[in-house]
Amino acid sequence: MHRLRKETGPMAALHEVDTGDEKSAEDCYTTTLASGDLPKRRMPEGGSPPGAVRDLILDELALDGNASQNLATFCSTFLDHEAHELMAVCIDKNMVDKDEYPQTAEIENRCVHILADLWNAPAGPTVGTSTTGSSEAAMLAGLALKWRWRAARRAAGKPADRPNLVCGPVQVCWEKFARYFDVELRQVPVLPDATGLRPEQLRANVDENTIGVVGILGVTYTCDYEPIKELAAELDAIQDDTGLDIPLHVDAASGGFVAPFLQPALEWDFRVPRVASINASGHKYGMAPLGVGFVVWRSPELLPEDLVFRVRYLGGNMPTLALNFSRPGGQVIAQYFNFLRHGHDGYTKIYEIASEAGQALGRRIAEMGPFELVYDGKGALPAVSWKLKEPDKAGFTLYDLTDRLRTRGWQVPAYPLPADRQDTVIQRVLVRHGISRDKLELLGDDVEREVKRLQAADGGSVAPQEAGFHH
Ligand SMILES: *Cc1c(COP(=O)(O)O)cnc(C)c1O
Repeated sequence: MHRLRKETGPMAALHEVDTGDEKSAEDCYTTTLASGDLPKRRMPEGGSPPGAVRDLILDELALDGNASQNLATFCSTFLDHEAHELMAVCIDKNMVDKDEYPQTAEIENRCVHILADLWNAPAGPTVGTSTTGSSEAAMLAGLALKWRWRAARRAAGKPADRPNLVCGPVQVCWEKFARYFDVELRQVPVLPDATGLRPEQLRANVDENTIGVVGILGVTYTCDYEPIKELAAELDAIQDDTGLDIPLHVDAASGGFVAPFLQPALEWDFRVPRVASINASGHKYGMAPLGVGFVVWRSPELLPEDLVFRVRYLGGNMPTLALNFSRPGGQVIAQYFNFLRHGHDGYTKIYEIASEAGQALGRRIAEMGPFELVYDGKGALPAVSWKLKEPDKAGFTLYDLTDRLRTRGWQVPAYPLPADRQDTVIQRVLVRHGISRDKLELLGDDVEREVKRLQAADGGSVAPQEAGFHH
């Protein structure tokens, strides 16, 4: 007997479960396990039939949000069935065990080379690695910056105890890097009407203790790209004037898998000589399942040998560069699957369609009246964001709207912009593979209806004719 868990089609997203095992014959609700609360703080004495346990857990997980309506996340919520199959086959492949799983290691290597090529790395040996995501990638890139700065300071006989990193409104992973690895984070406040770090802000913030500058391709808050080439040009000018040679790292967590396809002429990558390293999240616009990112360096000398470990106890003598040790291999395999499955043309088409869908939603939002677009979906990530034109007169806040949209399952976050624009509250929708134009039309309908309700004189209570119960 199969319970109603087998989802098929696009809605299966990442949650497809094959219920085809014989042990699920027992009704999960009549098991001993189901006769009370599920054990929550202590392991039960005995075990239970796996099918029933799975069903009880799935029942609980149904209370989670519906990932395909989560418009807050950059992360993949759609995967081909073939990728699900590959993930299942690779469940026991340990990424760190390169001797036991040499082909998994080889496929990781191919992914790193494909990205180095996509990001226009110069000819010559490629160094990089897959990671659990951009956060680990950022830690490794940050450590390389710190190690190189320290070596240069020591070589010059200067103190190397007060490193700083200069950036705009970065994702929390850089705050973590700074705190975990004892680096001062100089997060430069955003200028009025700016969406990220601007070149003219660099000079006042860098000094001889600056290990690097982080530019963001796809600012988390606004989805805009920071002007990488212009930031690099300003660092060139600073070097000419002061002698300080400060490397640039690009946090392309989302943009690294978008700009090569949607904005191929934009020079943000290794075409810019000052760019030393780049990170990106495979599990965001790379379209891989959760748990994979990448970091690539321009050339081997930018990665200090000290950061690479050579372990012998798994057999062989393999270099590893990672914060984790054991790590699943399936995500990397699925990343390679996506590269082959979609190709350059497929990534381009998917993101052109996503970008147009975002822009269409933006036009609709702009026409509703109370809103003004902060990002119209053109020129950077497939996304759209807006604010209230007159927050004091609107009669509702964007937090109210977020709350109302939740009643239909939509997750559309509202949040303040980073310092110094924290008085501006915005709402943001990210458009990924699997978020269709039609789905965004349905969201638009719901926004329109909820705005009307919120604007109603009674402070948002529902008009009786609308609240009718029709079945
Ligand atoms: C998401 C994101 C990160 C963190 O990436 P994970 O892959 O979630 O670890 C870092 N920087 C930026 C700009 C991001 O968007």
